[in-house]
Amino acid sequence: MQVLADCSLAQMNTLALPARAELLAQPDTETALQALLRDPAYAGLPRTVIGEGSNLVLAGDIPGLVIRPALRGTALLSEEPDQVLVEVGAGENWDSLVAWTLAQSWQGLENLSLIPGACGAAPFQNIGAYGVELADVLEAVDAVALHDGTARTFTRHECHFAYRDSRFKSAERGQWLITRLRLRLNRTPRLQLAYADLAARFADLPEAQQTPGGLRDLVCAIRRAKLPDPATLPNAGSFFKNPVVSADEYAALRQRFPDLVAFTQPDGRAKLAAGWLIEQAGWKGRRVGDLGMHAEQALVLVNHGAASGRVTGADVLAFAAQVRESVRARFGVILEQEPVILPE
Ligand SMILES: Cc1cc2nc3c(=O)[nH]c(=O)nc-3n(C[C@H](O)[C@H](O)[C@H](O)COP(=O)(O)OP(=O)(O)OC[C@H]3O[C@@H](n4cnc5c(N)ncnc54)[C@H](O)[C@@H]3O)c2cc1C
Repeated sequence: MQVLADCSLAQMNTLALPARAELLAQPDTETALQALLRDPAYAGLPRTVIGEGSNLVLAGDIPGLVIRPALRGTALLSEEPDQVLVEVGAGENWDSLVAWTLAQSWQGLENLSLIPGACGAAPFQNIGAYGVELADVLEAVDAVALHDGTARTFTRHECHFAYRDSRFKSAERGQWLITRLRLRLNRTPRLQLAYADLAARFADLPEAQQTPGGLRDLVCAIRRAKLPDPATLPNAGSFFKNPVVSADEYAALRQRFPDLVAFTQPDGRAKLAAGWLIEQAGWKGRRVGDLGMHAEQALVLVNHGAASGRVTGADVLAFAAQVRESVRARFGVILEQEPVILPE
């Protein structure tokens, strides 16, 4: 397997930030991956995994070995009257997987349509959209330990999934490379329409389009209208997580800001809409130099200066700090960044 030295990552991150990998490898089999991890030539070097770079802030060059898994393949593992078990390699594109499963009449991923990135990254932050998370369909993941290539399977329960979180992102960050996912999907549709806006627009579709495929098309249309395409306006999706606050804190905020947008959680806490907080703090559509918060979706930080190559990861972090400080000053709420900063 080829290991490239001093490789540009500018085309491998959707914020289009300039950064380089000291060494870059793209193994396409488990055997090649394990051989790489056990190769004495790379012993002791830092090891960093990247996927399609849609949730990264590259704050500088990445030392050591950067691994971008290229393990491919989709397979039907088993069929039951109501469900199927499907396996996919880490290097497959997530949205292609969603399209493929729906083409086979297997339902469950349509709400997660058009989320950028590779399948291997999906468990890392438990991707979610429109009331569905990966955790709802994931059966298990296969992974290898980055330090010595030892293989291990994690059941869904063992992944410790939470809102945009997992053991791979939190407790055991930097320890595992996910190689394959197994997903349990439905043969008899059970559509997830908990999001009121999505449900209303779905109900407006002609009856023949009220299918899993029709729901995918609707989700894609909503996302295309709201979210900037990284190919034309570089971004990393939602730049901040929706902050979750206690019931008391929520009640106090509601008193001061009766229009506050929030979703009550089953445990009584409230998930505040970070986009609303950012908009109220005056950042929606506002630009400082080459960086700004998007005019249609205040939660998305956009890089207008990609063509010049002059915007750096440090600029992005400094701009994000200004936004965070405005929200803290106005609401007393601390926004947590969603994209991962590399190098760590
Ligand atoms: C326009 C836009 C819209 C988005 N919308 C959503 C959304 O609706 N919901 C949502 O949840 N996310 C969303 N995102 C974020 C992003 O799509 C997801 O986080 C995606 O899973 C990242 O995949 P990636 O391959 O690009 O990972 P990268 O950005 O390359 O990596 C992200 C993290 O995952 C780790 N990682 C990557 N691959 C592996 C692996 N095989 N094993 C272990 N760790 C790995 C990396 O080390 C890194 O820490 C959006 C992003 C954009 C640009």
